[in-house]
Amino acid sequence: MRRLWIVAVALLVLCSGAALARAHGLESTRPAKIVFVNVGQGDGVVMRIGGKIIVSDAGEHRSDVVDATLRSLDAKQIDVAILSHPHDDHVKNFQALVTTYGWKIKLAVRSQSLWWEGTKTNRKLMETLRDQNVPIRDVRAGDNFDWGGASWEILNPRSGAFLGGATDAANASIVYLLQVNGIEALFTGDIESRVAEQVADELKDRTPAAVDIFLATHHGSKEGSIAQLLDVIRPKWAVLSVGRNAYEHPSVEAIDRLKAAGASIWCTDANGSVTARISAAGTLTWRASLQRAPWWSAKARRKAGRCVGR
Ligand SMILES: [Zn+2]
Repeated sequence: MRRLWIVAVALLVLCSGAALARAHGLESTRPAKIVFVNVGQGDGVVMRIGGKIIVSDAGEHRSDVVDATLRSLDAKQIDVAILSHPHDDHVKNFQALVTTYGWKIKLAVRSQSLWWEGTKTNRKLMETLRDQNVPIRDVRAGDNFDWGGASWEILNPRSGAFLGGATDAANASIVYLLQVNGIEALFTGDIESRVAEQVADELKDRTPAAVDIFLATHHGSKEGSIAQLLDVIRPKWAVLSVGRNAYEHPSVEAIDRLKAAGASIWCTDANGSVTARISAAGTLTWRASLQRAPWWSAKARRKAGRCVGR
């Protein structure tokens, strides 16, 4: 009888905990991993959150490393593919993931842009997704999702704002705030400063604390990671996803702004693939596949290694 009581009380505690998590729109309190894959110049992020696999951009180079990362996370499929915007350095590898490595994508979300049909590579990717019967959904500011029990709040693009061709493609980037086990991560794709100002405006009344993880805008470009945005989000950690390039990424200007905001910085060129591990209780720890120390430590005010010549 006594044992029955214990079981009943334990069940009650478990159920009310889950109800509480649901009421707050929070995750199922399972550990999560966000891997910023070393794809060279480009963005490629593979996550395991609440048992779901989300790939937020897949890069242009080193599709084998993206595939290996998926396998290292015990992925059976890609539950959600986020195609931030129609540029090769963000989405080209989805082609190889599906056709070369045989990954099944359950849902693809993409930014609202006509440029998905504007280049040969983009058209081929869209055709591949359609051939595989992958549902494709255009997302826009105001959309909210709960993939893996986490909160995904879409902040850009505004509906119909950047429908045009090549010149609009970067500003159409899906910008989102991810909250998982109390940790916040902001992804801004390759937006330019005028869009970053809008995002800063959007976030300024709603982010009480610092954002824990910030994927630096546009690989550390001069016009990205602007002060207005950093003032609002005060990132504890920034990730520069960057490799050899002709654009002088990461720029001295963006690096200086990130440092001034108090961020410690990982650089995939120096650190390799960088993994944020988020415990069920919301503790954030990091692991890097190459150099173990962050490229820039805010605490020690010290740089380690080289980030594409910086
Ligand atoms: Zn890019």
